[in-house]
Amino acid sequence: KLVLGIETSCDDTAAAVVDETGNVLGEAIHSQTEVHLKTGGIIPPVAQQLHRENIQRIVQEALSVSKVSPSELSAIATTIKPGLALSLGVGLSFSLQLVDKFKKPFIPIHHMEAHALTIRLTNKVEFPFLVLLISGGHCLLALVKGVSDFLLLGKSLDIAPGDMLDKVARRLSLINHPECSTMSGGKAIEHLAKQGNRLHFDFTPPMQRAKNCDFSFTGLQHIIDKTIMQKEKEEGIEKGQILSSAADIAAAVQHTTACHIAKRTHRAILFCKQRDLLSQSNAVLVVSGGVASNLYIRKALEIVTNATQCTLLCPPPRLCTDNGVMIAWNGIERLRAGLGILYDTEGIRYEPKCPLGVDITEEVEKAA
Ligand code: ATP
Ligand code: FE
Repeated sequence: KLVLGIETSCDDTAAAVVDETGNVLGEAIHSQTEVHLKTGGIIPPVAQQLHRENIQRIVQEALSVSKVSPSELSAIATTIKPGLALSLGVGLSFSLQLVDKFKKPFIPIHHMEAHALTIRLTNKVEFPFLVLLISGGHCLLALVKGVSDFLLLGKSLDIAPGDMLDKVARRLSLINHPECSTMSGGKAIEHLAKQGNRLHFDFTPPMQRAKNCDFSFTGLQHIIDKTIMQKEKEEGIEKGQILSSAADIAAAVQHTTACHIAKRTHRAILFCKQRDLLSQSNAVLVVSGGVASNLYIRKALEIVTNATQCTLLCPPPRLCTDNGVMIAWNGIERLRAGLGILYDTEGIRYEPKCPLGVDITEEVEKAA
């Protein structure tokens, strides 16, 4: 079995061919990060245009590197939810043309499901396992019971941690920092934090009293904004200049973010164990998404997993962020399970918003 996976839900145009055993035969990606960094965020019509300009080439490249012709494919899998409407539309209409031309089954993919299942391509992980997805657009904790069987334990009530880190990095003008100008906001914060002292600032972690596994980052972001404004006044610096305390702020932000994420994850592990939803002795916590590449946050999660007899697993960084491999692999998983394979694509639509699995947030709260 061979599946071509296509991803365009946000700002990466990606494609890959993966076989039944998880071998990546070929992959290609075009990232729009640099363009969006310059405009200070993603402008959907710009993202759409860039997807349009690159999708043909990227899919072609993935196929030719893998030496697979479209006629040899078992199916075509494409992200159709959730994501930016204009971006999703490009991937979907391109895929439907291919499906039509080569008469292939189509497998619609949920982007977050794909992130969650990626670990099964790189490691031998059986269901059920717990997954923490932390990126620029998403923040959730879910129990993965099967290929398409998820319990949503918690999610961000406002923005995602990567989004918050990006905003703080922008506020700190890290794009003008000689060492971080080409890095994403989160990466720039991690880099700068190494040179700072987190104890110079004290940001209170969000939702300390909430008896659930939800997250929140806007409150924290506002506190940080205020602090930066105050420091700018004190130091008398102009817009675009970098505060002398930027590294200390970065270290404190990173620390508070790590504490918050670790605490919510701890609650989720305890809930699952209490309900026998996870193995008592060898439960697995998978952490993925762009923010999962942050080593400080990982360390905080390691403390939690060590204390709860869990194993912490992260896909390699290139598979933590958006990519085509995870979409193709999700296609393989669905083919093997016989789930959601379409032979007729009539009426198929993309869905910008789509929760993952059954939301049991209330139950989690009651159990506390
Ligand atoms: P989606 O949410 O759909 O996956 P996305 O493009 O935001 O979309 P990713 O590509 O997985 O998701 O991750 C990008 C995010 O990860 C950005 O917000 C970026 O700042 C953050 N990030 C990247 N590297 C790091 C790091 N080392 N530490 C913290 N955050 C990071
Ligand atoms: Fe993603």
